[in-house]
Amino acid sequence: MSDLEKVNGLGPKTIKKLNDLSINSIEDLLLCFPKSYKIQKKTPIEQVKINQVVSIDVEVLSKATIFFFRKNLSKLTFKAQSQGQSFRIDIFNRHYLSSQIYPSVKLVVTGRFKERFNAFTASDIVLEKNYEEGIIAQYQLGDINDGRIKKVIHQLLIDNILINETLPKELLVSRKLEPINQLIRYIHIPNDEMELSRAIYRLKYEELILFALRIELIKGLQKSSQSFIKHYNIDLVKDFIKEIGFELTKGQKEATNEIFRDLRSSKQMNRLLQGDVGSGKTIVAVLASLAVVSAKSQVAIMAPTLVLAHQHYLVFEKYLKTYNVNIALLTSESPAKEKRQILSDISNHKIDIIIGTHALIQENIEFLNLGLAIIDEQHRFGVEQRKKLRQKGYYPDLLLMSATPIPRSLAISIFESSDISQITEKPLGRKSIITKVYEYSQIKSIYQLIRLEINLNHQVYVVCPLIEESQNSNRFSTEEVYQLLSKKFDPNLMDILHGKLSDKDKIKILNRFQKNQIKILVSTSLIEVGVHVDNATTMLIMNANTFGLAQLHQLRGRIGRSDLQSYCCLIVDDGLEDLDRLSILENTDDGFKISEYDLKLRGPGEVFGNNQAGVPKFNFANLIEDEALLKNALKDAQKIISSEDKKSKELYDKVFQTIESYHLD
Ligand code: ADP
Ligand code: MG
Repeated sequence: MSDLEKVNGLGPKTIKKLNDLSINSIEDLLLCFPKSYKIQKKTPIEQVKINQVVSIDVEVLSKATIFFFRKNLSKLTFKAQSQGQSFRIDIFNRHYLSSQIYPSVKLVVTGRFKERFNAFTASDIVLEKNYEEGIIAQYQLGDINDGRIKKVIHQLLIDNILINETLPKELLVSRKLEPINQLIRYIHIPNDEMELSRAIYRLKYEELILFALRIELIKGLQKSSQSFIKHYNIDLVKDFIKEIGFELTKGQKEATNEIFRDLRSSKQMNRLLQGDVGSGKTIVAVLASLAVVSAKSQVAIMAPTLVLAHQHYLVFEKYLKTYNVNIALLTSESPAKEKRQILSDISNHKIDIIIGTHALIQENIEFLNLGLAIIDEQHRFGVEQRKKLRQKGYYPDLLLMSATPIPRSLAISIFESSDISQITEKPLGRKSIITKVYEYSQIKSIYQLIRLEINLNHQVYVVCPLIEESQNSNRFSTEEVYQLLSKKFDPNLMDILHGKLSDKDKIKILNRFQKNQIKILVSTSLIEVGVHVDNATTMLIMNANTFGLAQLHQLRGRIGRSDLQSYCCLIVDDGLEDLDRLSILENTDDGFKISEYDLKLRGPGEVFGNNQAGVPKFNFANLIEDEALLKNALKDAQKIISSEDKKSKELYDKVFQTIESYHLD
């Protein structure tokens, strides 16, 4: 029985809902903090500036008119006045409010005057009598009403229910953190912004100290696990480099040197190779593989999609054909007989390099001498999958490749690796992609661009968030967009690509696109990696705001792969508010900058997926903005690890249990 049953105002139904959210006790409830706060304050109209987001009192002057753009997309417009100043108010996708809007109704509207004081674009509208000024906590506990939860928690606070401190006293003092019961008061019912910021400061610190403890513990555990030294043939590699056909960039050379140093050391390599899309990571992987093969060891290369694995296979074949290296491709669609042959050839080392998808860890592969495991687009794999590949050999060296740069602290936490190589420049001669955000109503001008590019014999990708139309979403599907475009362009020159097609069909379509038999390829984000068609110069991304920045950047990496000028059109619904985020893509094509910005805005959980072990769940802290605080936390973590204090030990144990790989390996 839980003590929640004793709480006034909580019935069995609500308790059940709370339990489903892992809130099982009064203490859990007190520690269930608001997800966000709204600071509600009205601004008198005479103080409002252009483009400033404000809430103002208005009186409605006219009935509302509704315009529909597409399915579920609408604009509601009416006239209003504030202090004798009259203007138009527009709000998107709230057509259901229309019946409540008629002359003399008093409202509070939130939004901004975008260009002039005669038109206000609202993001929110409430009846004046329902508007609550002050700091409003938002709990977002499923369908449990915020007011209900607040009432219950306030009563618990009035009853002075106390809970136990979790942080060592020393830390509270040295970092000037609020004690836990004070924190709880401030976070649930802040009297002012000062109290709220005191509370948030402690919560940020708490999140960062757990993260810092993880990092320090892993560093301590990184006992140099032994590996075989790879006695590679450096002359062979040097000859190969002369024949690649291009000069390696500075970053490629440095990364190669770092990897080669690891290969000839007796310490197991655990290196993350970061480089923007198109920076040329593959050739670095080819060099490392050739070296390992020349040292009489085998190499396994795992890629997240069949398309990419297939692409790598072609590249490796092309480069290493004349070097007497045996390369094979293994995917879940390889025919059974072929599969058996490949497995047997791997187990007696007839195959030097095996390239594949998840099949590499699913199938019963046994290597005779696995010396190097490479994982491309590593963020698409979970910790378990990476571990499984590693375990196919006796401490094989590990090379993880990624187009999304990760700060060092995160790399340690997620990959338990602090060895990072970075390729920061792109090969010479690439033109930067002209990127622009368009509202859907401007699509006609994009059709013109497509027409121009097709007339130049260039090709176009159109990326959609959905495969098929869906009842409860107004996002574009490949189906819908294909229909739309086939009214403007010859359907014989178009095709659709998505994940539900068989691998065979996917490759067939991509081959036709490669040969320029298809001009417009309507696709899901499936083309994100591994598709190389230099002649494709234009990309449309529908509902661009529904993708992450790093993903958009990766997607547009499919164009701009030659000396042709390329264009990326990010298409969003009309009237969308959060466009600032997308504008960074208009302004830079530096993936490192974009990734840092993304991380700052969305946090590591959103960017890398919370289901990856080691990705910290930050509700309050921000790795980029709170870097200074993290530095303090790292110092404190070292103290906690060596402290005898009971609370320090509890913290230490809590974190230690989350570090698994060292126990299981
Ligand atoms: P990514 O880092 O995104 O995996 P790739 O390895 O696929 O990039 O390389 C993109 C393209 O650039 C390939 O066609 C490759 O041959 C080419 N490339 C790589 N390095 C260089 C270089 N130093 N000079 C010129 N072209 C290069
Ligand atoms: Mg790549």
